[in-house]
Amino acid sequence: MRILIVGSGGREHAIAWALSKSPQVERIYCAPGNAGIAEIAACVPIGEMQFEALAQFALQQEIDLVVVGPEAPLFGGLVDVLEEKGLKVFGPRKDAAIIEGSKVFTKELMKKYNIPTAAYETFDDYEAARAYLLKQQAPIVIKADGLAAGKGVTVAQTLEEAEQALCGIMVEKVFGEAGSKVVIEEYLSGQEMSILAFVDGETVRPMVPSQDHKPVYDGDRGPNTGGMGTYSPVPHIPQSVVDEAIETILKPAARAMVQEGRPFRGVLYAGLMISEKGEPKTIEFNCRFGDPETQVVLPRLKSDLAEILLATVEGRLHEVEIEWSDEAAVCVVLASGGYPGPYEKGKPITGLDQVEHSLVFHAGTALQDGQIVTNGGRLLGVTGVGRDITEAREIAYADIEKIRYEGKHYRTDIALKALQAMKG
Ligand code: ATP
Repeated sequence: MRILIVGSGGREHAIAWALSKSPQVERIYCAPGNAGIAEIAACVPIGEMQFEALAQFALQQEIDLVVVGPEAPLFGGLVDVLEEKGLKVFGPRKDAAIIEGSKVFTKELMKKYNIPTAAYETFDDYEAARAYLLKQQAPIVIKADGLAAGKGVTVAQTLEEAEQALCGIMVEKVFGEAGSKVVIEEYLSGQEMSILAFVDGETVRPMVPSQDHKPVYDGDRGPNTGGMGTYSPVPHIPQSVVDEAIETILKPAARAMVQEGRPFRGVLYAGLMISEKGEPKTIEFNCRFGDPETQVVLPRLKSDLAEILLATVEGRLHEVEIEWSDEAAVCVVLASGGYPGPYEKGKPITGLDQVEHSLVFHAGTALQDGQIVTNGGRLLGVTGVGRDITEAREIAYADIEKIRYEGKHYRTDIALKALQAMKG
């Protein structure tokens, strides 16, 4: 099989790594890729939004399967463009990617099909939204409808803060068109957990659950990032809760998309809040592999990823065997100092050759005169795999010590929550 992966982050590196283990895979290309991906795939300088160039390349190279990693090309309709040319593509079409692209669409879908989620109202008029808000109680959550690079959500501790967020979105239009509609949502407390699933229309084959760490500093302090680390499994959340989430959220969502005439094919990612009582509710759906969730989920996959992706595209996901290891995986993200604010680029990264036991997935790295240098906010995801979370953490953190660059920043408490919860 000849595969083209679209994207350039740690997620795409993890996908390339998992595919490279398949005996069916003969060659992997990645557009545009990064310095780490270049070690296992041929990187081609085509950007993720250059749809025509991607299609031409895939046709010329006789690609058997295109795998689209990031959300932006999915929202933009890359899958539709490639399918029209007769290519096989893993990822949802534009009309199904809306499950991530529009929060208003997805809240309405969940209401119509009784999928558990926070109570909410949607508005396209500022005065009406404000009048509603002022009758509510804090904490409360304000969300811009469309894509806002993860910044469109405010969990407001006071009504004043909520009003400011609403004004920013609807009056000052800080997110442009993404804020022409808004969702005002009930605050949910509890533990967050993600469940990703392979979905081909109605068939849902869940992956192992994971938990992300969004804030930049230890103790969940500081601004939110794209994700500073993840771990899997989530041992303090019982399997019965995971099963309930699959039955009441993921399967009904896939069925609902089919009934709406927008069958979903690809990875459906459910971001969940598990209440104190163990009831899962949906916070969001994403239409692709999570980043950095993929960096802990795929290392636990024992089956052939190429076979699973192809079966998804061909609508025979029910046929394939999907096995997961009982081991634990912990991924710690190494970032540039200053991230998620401004940061410098071009700093040499050394010590990668001394990493002994971890998997190192590259995100914002580049090769400059034969030297790997920093080239983004999130640089590397170091994944330790071990018998349990404790061992996986030890492996990841021991290898992180060996990696050096100016301004090195990472959280030291990834997965500690799981260990504390289990002790308590
Ligand atoms: P991203 O793309 O970064 O995952 P997003 O912009 O799509 O995020 P959401 O995932 O909907 O936004 O929300 C971001 C974060 O805000 C969640 O991970 C969660 O911590 C918090 N959050 C969202 N909705 C709620 C809610 N109803 N109650 C409590 N917290 C919430």
